Amino acid sequence: MLNPKVNGTKISYYFICHRKLWLFDRQLQFESDFNAVEEGKFISETTYPDKHHEIKLSDGAVLDFYDKRHKIVHEVKKSDKMEEAHLWQLKYYLYYLKSSGVTDVTGKLDYPKLKKTLQVELTKDDEQKIQGIFEDMTVIVNQENTPERLNKKFCKTCAYYEFCWA
Ligand code: SF4
Repeated sequence: MLNPKVNGTKISYYFICHRKLWLFDRQLQFESDFNAVEEGKFISETTYPDKHHEIKLSDGAVLDFYDKRHKIVHEVKKSDKMEEAHLWQLKYYLYYLKSSGVTDVTGKLDYPKLKKTLQVELTKDDEQKIQGIFEDMTVIVNQENTPERLNKKFCKTCAYYEFCWA
């Protein structure tokens, strides 16, 4: 079953940093978020210039490219440093489509700059795991206090860096 409070971005933040998820859920967004979104859009638009293949989901997310003929959702990313987060974001989209009645769809995680593509499928175990993630996310975003900071290298490129570390 879908959770109306979840979207692909939140799923990826769940895998990156719970504090980031908590802040994003409260709609705290900073300038660098918008820059990252613009850059992502540029990579996606130049990789798949035909925008007719985009699909807008009811949670507001736009799938980068949906190949209707082969039933493949493509998710385009700049780097593979956060691959687990990207993978589950795409699995979530497959789950979303399946829950909405669009079945037998697979995914491809595309890294045009690295000339790398990963095939992605949604298994029964993944569906169960996604349900567990929904439950976990609900607990995290309803926490009264901001989750603890991570002290990771990637904090330096996070939109919330100044908020967390200044
Ligand atoms: S700066 Fe680090 S701790 Fe803060 S939200 Fe970003 S990833 Fe999480």
